[in-house]
Amino acid sequence: RLYNEVQELRGNIRVYCRIRPFLPGENVKQTTTEYIGDNGELLIANPSKQGKDVQRMFKFNKVFGPAATQEEVFLDIQPLVRSVLDGYNVCIFAYGQTGSGKTYTMTGPHSATEKEWGVNYRALNDLFHISWNRRDAYVYEVCVQMVEIYNEQVRDLLASDGTQKKYPFLHKIYDFKFNQTHVIPASMWYRLYLLFPFNLHTLGILSNSLPNGLAVPDASMLPVKSTSDVLELMHIGHSNRAVGATALNERSSRSHSIVTVHVRGMDLKTGATLRGSLHLVDLAGSERVDRSEVTGDRLKEAQHINKSLSALGDVIYALSQKSAHVPYRNSKLTQVLQSSLGGHAKTLMFVQINPDIGSYSETLSTLKFAERVS
Ligand code: ADP
Ligand code: MG
Repeated sequence: RLYNEVQELRGNIRVYCRIRPFLPGENVKQTTTEYIGDNGELLIANPSKQGKDVQRMFKFNKVFGPAATQEEVFLDIQPLVRSVLDGYNVCIFAYGQTGSGKTYTMTGPHSATEKEWGVNYRALNDLFHISWNRRDAYVYEVCVQMVEIYNEQVRDLLASDGTQKKYPFLHKIYDFKFNQTHVIPASMWYRLYLLFPFNLHTLGILSNSLPNGLAVPDASMLPVKSTSDVLELMHIGHSNRAVGATALNERSSRSHSIVTVHVRGMDLKTGATLRGSLHLVDLAGSERVDRSEVTGDRLKEAQHINKSLSALGDVIYALSQKSAHVPYRNSKLTQVLQSSLGGHAKTLMFVQINPDIGSYSETLSTLKFAERVS
């Protein structure tokens, strides 16, 4: 194994809480978060009608307070991200109501500086740098897919022919087999590698002839070979996400976006190949929608979101109970993520909290979702 520290991180599901700060210009009222312990304790409070605080304690693997930086958060999860290079499937997702900082954690703020980059940028950059630095011993290829799930339909965010056709709805979603390691005769790989020692693509081209094990095989898959590739990919993905939406924020809060990083590697000594994947998921907003107030499209959206988030909760709950039956098939979201939920996969959930007391009831329901699965 390349990264021994990964061993300590076993235990398949981790739940982190992140509390966003009050924003400049936000009317700072009372905060819901009363106490953050060093060992993942979070005490939230709500003033009751009698004027007495009603308190509830939750326990996470870790809590990041409002002052936590993007870098701090990433450093904590870096070993998990790197375990992809050992052939693990990893899923990191952000759950919470709209405005609680999901996109901030996963992507960063709109037009982020490097310091503000979220998990997506940092993870891609990190994987690509390691694959480059270790190229004496391993050949790695890092490729990315980006899809959006909206109303139970999967769309390719990296398709780029510039027309509406760039949003094919992808119907083909594969069940994933959990064994990801192929052992190819060393002599064959090695001879080819000697012929094309600097062409990292060699591996990709060859492995395309293997059953590829992609959950969404029809979605565009683009290679990452530099930091500017990372930036460009994310840019394409985000601008595609915006098109067709009447209001960007509205729409993005009602769809799930999934960045999938595929890593294929080969040990140059033994010829053993491995494959790992990292799913980075910015979930749709978890806020409950008042059924008496919405109709038509809005109601349909709300129902789809509700269905997929509870399907996700059910899957994670089944996994945490080591249940024999894991209900992956109940939503597109869980089908697409299947390879990195369960089995030997590692899952990390960021539970995002808005600190404002006005969000108390949503915060409580977010925390209860987390409590069920942790
Ligand atoms: P969501 O994706 O859950 O709807 P956003 O990530 O868009 O929420 O966050 C809402 C607002 O709060 C954005 O303006 C974002 O930049 C800001 N924000 C969220 N988390 C943080 C943070 N940790 N530090 C600074 N600003 C944040
Ligand atoms: Mg968002």
